[in-house]
Amino acid sequence: MKPNYIQKVANWGNFPVVEKEMKSDDSLPKIKEFVKNKPEIIARGNGRCYGDASLGEHIFSTEKLNKFIGFDRQNGILECEAGVLLSEVLEICVPQGFFLYVTPGTKYISVGGAIASDVHGKNHHAEGCFSEYVLEFDLMDENGEILKCSREENSEKFWATIGGMGLTGIVLSAKFKLKKIETAYIRQESIKAKNLDEIFNLFDESEDWTYNVAWIDCLQKGKNIGRSVLMRGEHAQKSELKNKFAEQYLNLKKKFQPTIPFYFPGFVLNRWSIKIFNFLYYAKQRKKTLKNFIDYETFFYPLDVINEWNKIYGRKGFIQYQMVIPKETGKEGMKEILETIADSGNGSFLAVLKLFGKNNPQAYNSFPQEGYTLALDFKVNKKLPKLVSDLDEIVEKYGGRIYLTKDSMSKPALTNYLKNVENPKFVSMQRKRIKSE
Ligand SMILES: Cc1cc2nc3c(=O)[nH]c(=O)nc-3n(C[C@H](O)[C@H](O)[C@H](O)COP(=O)(O)OP(=O)(O)OC[C@H]3O[C@@H](n4cnc5c(N)ncnc54)[C@H](O)[C@@H]3O)c2cc1C
Repeated sequence: MKPNYIQKVANWGNFPVVEKEMKSDDSLPKIKEFVKNKPEIIARGNGRCYGDASLGEHIFSTEKLNKFIGFDRQNGILECEAGVLLSEVLEICVPQGFFLYVTPGTKYISVGGAIASDVHGKNHHAEGCFSEYVLEFDLMDENGEILKCSREENSEKFWATIGGMGLTGIVLSAKFKLKKIETAYIRQESIKAKNLDEIFNLFDESEDWTYNVAWIDCLQKGKNIGRSVLMRGEHAQKSELKNKFAEQYLNLKKKFQPTIPFYFPGFVLNRWSIKIFNFLYYAKQRKKTLKNFIDYETFFYPLDVINEWNKIYGRKGFIQYQMVIPKETGKEGMKEILETIADSGNGSFLAVLKLFGKNNPQAYNSFPQEGYTLALDFKVNKKLPKLVSDLDEIVEKYGGRIYLTKDSMSKPALTNYLKNVENPKFVSMQRKRIKSE
């Protein structure tokens, strides 16, 4: 019989699913005991990475490290435990006129996960990664000792941990800066692009906008390859908003959030359903350009509207494939990638293109490099390993790499880029897989 502390765990892609020990605690002596007694540990935040990055033999979940420590309103500096979710940060900060400098496409990630993956948002070209705004954090090392890490103190550990995928220790708490906002709304422009040339030109034209992201129809071929919609945005000023928002410019009404009740059968998401979805998505905006004001939830987190949307991919799960290709060869590389996907018949119902600006050389483990990044969801099926291997070849040819927080099957040549993280105590399934191949 298996011991009762063993449980089934999977991250957002529901692939792989493992049966391992997972423990959560908020008592530092107990966390220290766990770290000292187990041969191998990996930290897990909210499991929003897609693959096996926060899975391991013994998992420490930061779920119970969920307390706020302090908020300096004068300087917009928040301190909290590592398991606090960005959604919880927003809940208290937005009504007081603050927002996250950098947020990924879901708010349901922990502060520890944001540091360990050094997450980026739609504003990398303008404002960089999450780490730019992290002032310090407490890290538990392999001996259970707590190190204060910042640019000045234990700075090697600070930089190795940023984007270090949990391999340097457990982040227990962090202090980071927030951005001042006047309203909870975004001034948005959505612009349709017929093909890759148009969308790349639009990205160039939009470099002065803080937020840029494009949805791409990855099943288009020939002259329509790269058909897409660019969304660009800025935090709206109070003076821009009409009366309908005036009273609650910093407070949003709670919205109904439906939940996907069960895993969809495997046949629901197929080439044809994705084609129909893509057609409707592109057609729903009639005009070439649409200008409007929308609340920040709709702009930043459209997928969070439906709880457990990952179940639509069925029980076998899905992967997210995210790569970056340097800017100089970005267009050629993206064309080849999109052609390969369209020919494979393995469509992605979600395909998001973003522009990365220059990276911070100090944050050497962070994924972003100057160039274009494309993120695609693929259902797990028999054809997938071949498609991933074909895409990996193209990414390698163009000098790109893969985002570790999404990876579950890419080749080590594209994923073995972390430095100063070797530590026999903190080991993930992902790290073992990369090292063993
Ligand atoms: C819908 C969706 C959209 C997304 N969009 C983006 C995006 O736009 N940009 C982007 O960058 N990412 C994006 N992501 C990925 C997500 O932001 C990262 O995977 C993030 O790290 C998840 O955080 P988590 O708290 O869920 O951590 P987990 O998924 O549990 O862990 C992720 C990594 O962080 C480590 N870790 C977690 N907590 C700690 C800790 N306290 N101490 C040390 N290591 C720790 C784990 O070991 C693991 O390596 C998206 C994910 C989803 C599901």
